[in-house]
Amino acid sequence: MNNLGKDNKNKKNIYIIPILVAIFLALMYFWFIPNLTKPAVEEISYNQFKDMLSDGKVKEVDIDVYYIDIIPKVEKDARVTKIYRTGRLYLDDKEIVDLLDKSGVTYGSPIQSDNTLTEVLMYIILPTLLTGAILFFIMKKMTKGIGGVMDFGKKTGKLYAEKSTGKTFDDVAGQDEAKTALFEIIDFLSHPAKYTAIGARLPKGALLVGPPGTGKTLLAKAVAGEAKVPFFSLSGSEFVELFVGMGAARVRDLFKQAVSNAPCIVFIDEIDAVGKSRDESFGGNDEREQTLNQLLAEMDGFDSSKGVVILAATNRPDVLDRALLRPGRFDRRINVDLPDQDGRVAILKVHARDVKMSDKIDLDVIARQTPGASGADLENIINEAALRAVRERKTVVEQDNLEAAVEVILAGEERKNKVLSDKEKHIVAYHEIGHALVSARLSNTEPVHKITIIPRTSGALGYTMQVAKEEKNLISKEEVLDNIKVLCGGRAAEEIVFKSITTGASNDIQRATEIAREMITQYGMSDEFGFINFESKTNAFLSDRLKGSYSEETARKIDAAMQKVISECYESAKTILSENRDVLDKLADVLYKKENITGDEFMAELRFLDEDKKETENQ
Ligand code: ADP
Ligand code: MG
Ligand code: ZN
Repeated sequence: MNNLGKDNKNKKNIYIIPILVAIFLALMYFWFIPNLTKPAVEEISYNQFKDMLSDGKVKEVDIDVYYIDIIPKVEKDARVTKIYRTGRLYLDDKEIVDLLDKSGVTYGSPIQSDNTLTEVLMYIILPTLLTGAILFFIMKKMTKGIGGVMDFGKKTGKLYAEKSTGKTFDDVAGQDEAKTALFEIIDFLSHPAKYTAIGARLPKGALLVGPPGTGKTLLAKAVAGEAKVPFFSLSGSEFVELFVGMGAARVRDLFKQAVSNAPCIVFIDEIDAVGKSRDESFGGNDEREQTLNQLLAEMDGFDSSKGVVILAATNRPDVLDRALLRPGRFDRRINVDLPDQDGRVAILKVHARDVKMSDKIDLDVIARQTPGASGADLENIINEAALRAVRERKTVVEQDNLEAAVEVILAGEERKNKVLSDKEKHIVAYHEIGHALVSARLSNTEPVHKITIIPRTSGALGYTMQVAKEEKNLISKEEVLDNIKVLCGGRAAEEIVFKSITTGASNDIQRATEIAREMITQYGMSDEFGFINFESKTNAFLSDRLKGSYSEETARKIDAAMQKVISECYESAKTILSENRDVLDKLADVLYKKENITGDEFMAELRFLDEDKKETENQ
């Protein structure tokens, strides 16, 4: 902000000093040293010269075009401090030559050296440039080092400052709870007097907690934008880098700048990088602890009535040091969750503002296809759809662009050049129809939205997409079990049809196992254990699990229970598919030929086959 200019000036200074030094050295070489060491020249008359010759005082004579230089005899080893010069009388001075011959003086005419230019280069310019260059680099290094450690205050460095963020709450869709919680802070920043008059102490800091991409940074900026105050931000990982002591210096500097720019927002992104609990048993990090201590000290030290509000963001609240969460520091915690159906529609709408969309777009459908997507994912989908529309030379984004974008974000780009062998393609077709058919025959499953056997860059050779009719907050045990059965459907179809199994089901197996485990250890849905907890999620956003304390014996029983759940589901999937073998074959054939079928096409085909079967049975 206000010190951006200074930064530039510092850079110029770096250049000026070496340039001055280079000029000085050049002067030394070209003028000062030659002049100092050159003997003085004294002009004498021609007869004085003749006298000197006859007196035997001359050692050497250089005859130039217009004048004669006379080098006098000096004592042995002494330096010639003075030479004499006289004009030439005749151009063809036989007399002089005779005289010189007689007195035995060496004479000649100076040879203009051809080498002067190279000599000048070799001995003067090159050393000058070299010295200058070396000095330049030394200076640059020095200023850098010093600037890094001591001048942080003068450099913007990693500190990110914005006079105004230009974001408002209109840019943040959904997240209404978070917005409500932040309103007070905005009001405080805009009308601090109202609060100080009554003696209310506002929270110094609020911690935004939520999974990546849910708009924490965006919210912080929007708060600054709504309150029309400057926004200072620094990322936690940037505190902890470079030299020891830097992090603490940065914290100090950040707060100094913030206080002098109050009212303002200070935003510390990824605070978990500095704020990790200090009592970790291993791998203590002195630098981080120092930085954290400085942060704590600064937060205690500054007076919140000045109008500095500190916001911080993290997706790992569980690892934060307790000291940070104490009242008077980040005592407010604001959850920023993944958006629900309505939230997703709202976020899609916000980002659709910037893109030309066809009137027929149905964002509801897109939102339903993307449970678990974050705001950042949704923004990405809109952008991807716009790119696709451009590629297809359309003037507006159409629904199919959006649907394709969803697939790209969820499953990766289509891999057109990946060729499956005929046999593989058959296996994949049966595998996917296996999932879809089991799903269609069960009552507690979500409808099939799309089936494809075009390989994706994510590595999937095909997939069956199911889309919920509505947002679910509670999931029943029947639904969980049916879900596992659908996951088993792929492998079951392979086994029934080809009498052999492939590696294609690894992802299904992983998911089924995870669900079975959670059923037993977290949701109390097993017959063996019932209403009991063995594990809990340590982090609601990352799938870290905290193992509860239970015996080896119990661990074995849990494993056995999981195996039982999964094998029962697998058998049930196999039964469904065996009973529908003819339908399975026909549907797999349709998918094999078309490669892509929609859920509607699948259901229509299935209904047609069922009717057909009924008729033949009745006859
Ligand atoms: P975080 O800091 O939580 O990881 P960001 O604030 O950096 O997430 O969000 C990344 C981008 O995703 C934002 O720039 C914005 O475009 C989009 N985004 C995320 N959440 C929302 C939301 N609730 N409304 C609108 N856009 C959002
Ligand atoms: Mg962020
Ligand atoms: Zn599968």
